[in-house]
Amino acid sequence: MPRLSPVLKQATPVTAVRGEGLYLYDAAGRRHLDFTSGVGVTSTGHCHPRVVEAVREQAGRLIHGQYTTVLHEPLLTLTERLGEVLPEGLDTLFYANSGSEAVEAALRLARQATGRPNAVVFDGGFHGRTIGAASLTTAGSRFRARTGPLMPGVAVAPFPHAFDLGLDGPAAVEHALQGLDRVLATTSAPDETAAFIVEPVLGEGGYVPAPDGFLAGLRERADRYGIVLVLDEVQCGFGRTGRFWAHEYETGAATPDILVTAKGLASGFPLSAIAARADLMSLARPGSHGGTYGGNAVACSAALATLDVIRDEKLVANAAEQGARLARGLHTVAERTPAVADVRGRGLMLGSEFRRPDGSPDPDTAGRAQQAAAELGLLLLTCGVWGNTVRMIPALTVTGDQIDEALALWSKAVAASVREQD
Ligand code: PMP
Repeated sequence: MPRLSPVLKQATPVTAVRGEGLYLYDAAGRRHLDFTSGVGVTSTGHCHPRVVEAVREQAGRLIHGQYTTVLHEPLLTLTERLGEVLPEGLDTLFYANSGSEAVEAALRLARQATGRPNAVVFDGGFHGRTIGAASLTTAGSRFRARTGPLMPGVAVAPFPHAFDLGLDGPAAVEHALQGLDRVLATTSAPDETAAFIVEPVLGEGGYVPAPDGFLAGLRERADRYGIVLVLDEVQCGFGRTGRFWAHEYETGAATPDILVTAKGLASGFPLSAIAARADLMSLARPGSHGGTYGGNAVACSAALATLDVIRDEKLVANAAEQGARLARGLHTVAERTPAVADVRGRGLMLGSEFRRPDGSPDPDTAGRAQQAAAELGLLLLTCGVWGNTVRMIPALTVTGDQIDEALALWSKAVAASVREQD
């Protein structure tokens, strides 16, 4: 019998046979509270009835057209409907299947539009695992190990990771922007730089929101030098942070030239997109973008239903409200647990970072807490450059009771993992 590739490293012991809302069920009928959501994908919960219905209906009508060959109605309707939630001016869309593909499309568009070769990325950023996207990724050496030679033309500037730097938000922003100016002066000259590519909230890099002022600083420099500002909202977009787009937290001007979205867009169906101003997208070379499955009709119908559910069930507001409840509970656990050095994030994208008494990163206790939680029936993931942050990323449909259920399990798991260490 064939076996699964050992390349797979499973973060939880669960093999799921069914999902419903916030819960997954295994073959033994055991229920697991899922605070991983397929890594931030099933934002409407597992198998939301409206998504299931839309997909069933579409699958009986048309599954695939390949949209550079044959357009189809779900894709056209989705394009129109995304216009209601996209920042003003980003009125042209291109679809793909995954975050990595969409990031690569954004970089390619920026290069084609500017005629420049380089990208500046930010420390701790994650943009995918294909060779191009991995070349843009600095969220951990594990994402790049034995992958090279990587793509040339990538310069890394600091991200304003206030906790890591031991600075407050404004000082961290100043540090990062000065670092960026240095990169532009030394490593990647402005007239060689096609794009800044950045996550408004670092995802795999440790759930670190950019403090206010950072994205505006990037916008200002992008305008000054004709550099394309690409915001990768694959993990933090689509209502996850309690605003529809995470960059809406920035009080200064922060509208990107290209916005990358995926994950929460289609409730689990493979779909991603880049949105750009028409004048920019028109500079893409026809035929150079695209793939066989991008913009699949069933995936687009799932995205349409997802948008309906987000609107009708007021899920962005729910993410803000339940996120605040979850954050309060995580802070309470942290206050009585010295090993939890920081709790941070936005909305329903929250992480607890573990450090040792000497201040060094503690992936061991983080890993034990995550495993202990899984044994108790709460599914979580770790993240962070050192893997020492445990993240919570439940569906945006989560209720207050489910938040409390998760917090009770988390509190027990943390206590057990810290005790084990003593
Ligand atoms: N960008 C970000 C911010 C992500 O979090 C991810 C996935 N974790 C990606 C890109 C890559 O997406 P995918 O795994 O769908 O290729």
